[in-house]
Amino acid sequence: MRRAVIVGAGIAGLATAVRLGRDGWQTVIVERAPARRRSGYMVNLIGAGFDAAERLGLLSALTERDLGVFTTVLVRADGSPKFTVPAAVAEAAVGPRAMTVFRGDLEAVLFDQATALGGTAPDFRFGTTVTAVDQHPDGVRVELSDGTTEEADLLVGADGVQSRTRTMFFGPDFRVDFPYVVLAFPVAGDASGTAVTHIGPGRTAAVVNLGPERSSAFVTYRCDDPGAELSQGPAAALAGAVGDLAVGLPATVPDDAYFDRVSQVAMPRWSDGRIVLVGDAAWCVTLFAGHGATLALTGADRLGACLREHSSIPDALTAWEATLRPEVVRRQATAKRGMMQYAPPTRFHVAMNDLTMRAITLPGVRNLVRRAIERQSR
Ligand SMILES: Cc1cc2nc3c(=O)[nH]c(=O)nc-3n(C[C@H](O)[C@H](O)[C@H](O)COP(=O)(O)OP(=O)(O)OC[C@H]3O[C@@H](n4cnc5c(N)ncnc54)[C@H](O)[C@@H]3O)c2cc1C
Repeated sequence: MRRAVIVGAGIAGLATAVRLGRDGWQTVIVERAPARRRSGYMVNLIGAGFDAAERLGLLSALTERDLGVFTTVLVRADGSPKFTVPAAVAEAAVGPRAMTVFRGDLEAVLFDQATALGGTAPDFRFGTTVTAVDQHPDGVRVELSDGTTEEADLLVGADGVQSRTRTMFFGPDFRVDFPYVVLAFPVAGDASGTAVTHIGPGRTAAVVNLGPERSSAFVTYRCDDPGAELSQGPAAALAGAVGDLAVGLPATVPDDAYFDRVSQVAMPRWSDGRIVLVGDAAWCVTLFAGHGATLALTGADRLGACLREHSSIPDALTAWEATLRPEVVRRQATAKRGMMQYAPPTRFHVAMNDLTMRAITLPGVRNLVRRAIERQSR
């Protein structure tokens, strides 16, 4: 039986454990957090992400948690409406093979799927991290902070954009920080099925009202010094950057709000022998690309497929990277366009965005948009 140590119980780590466990691998998941993280913002699974969720057996559980599509009400800073993109338009644009779920729900479904694997369910080590790794021709020896040592065939670093596995083995230089921060958190919201959204020069703030336990706020803005923004904490940052906007943001922000800088990871290789990085650790594309969860699921699913096809682990990892890299490169380029949409530099760019969004509501254009989304999601 082949063994893998997976660092990180996020989307990429859990999906890798599900995929490998199905093929008879024994896995140990090492997660730094003391328990499963539940914090959530919304992620879309469209095209390849939806397909990967289906192959990983997640669809029926995810369908129960699908937040569906909603109407977007674009508003001015004072809250007065500019125009509306109805839910039916969004639905027609993304097509039937799409869903929107909270990241925490996707993680919960993956966790349930992993623990239901029976004899190959992962051995979870919460509150634990990797302290040392020795790679030798026949395997990897991994020392953990709980004092135990694991012998494995493969070490998977799925420890996110700040990956310590990456800095330990590949060096410190692959993260590219952008001058933006993002803040996302659950809110009480109402049940109107609307996303009240303001997009102005350098910033976006939205409150998605889908009823109790389903409503959330999302804010992103451009700033010269993301580190200084983060150090003042989410509540002060929220008040300073978007406190003047009437979109329905609450005055308080929960402690477990997602609040981080926006960074990509660009590496020439994602593996070295029997050590491989998956998900944001290897290729973070940023929220502006909108495909991070999709790529984490697709990457894990294809990693399993390549390890099944190739008896040599380094060969499997090389083949896997060749299938995935073009998609990642494309998404990282898309992210740069996304920055213009979420934080348009000038009023002129805001007006151009508005024109594009208004055009989506026209039937002929809607079909074109749908075809473009389908092409881009494959
Ligand atoms: C606001 C927002 C909206 C988004 N929207 C979308 C979207 O619409 N569609 C989409 O596809 N993607 C979206 N994404 C991106 C997506 O959420 C991520 O790309 C995806 O979750 C990556 O998962 P991951 O498992 O690679 O990393 P993570 O989710 O960061 O998981 C890493 C895990 O590793 C653990 N860890 C870290 N360091 C260590 C260590 N040293 N030892 C042990 N454990 C460690 C962490 O605690 C964590 O559990 C969005 C992101 C944001 C922020």
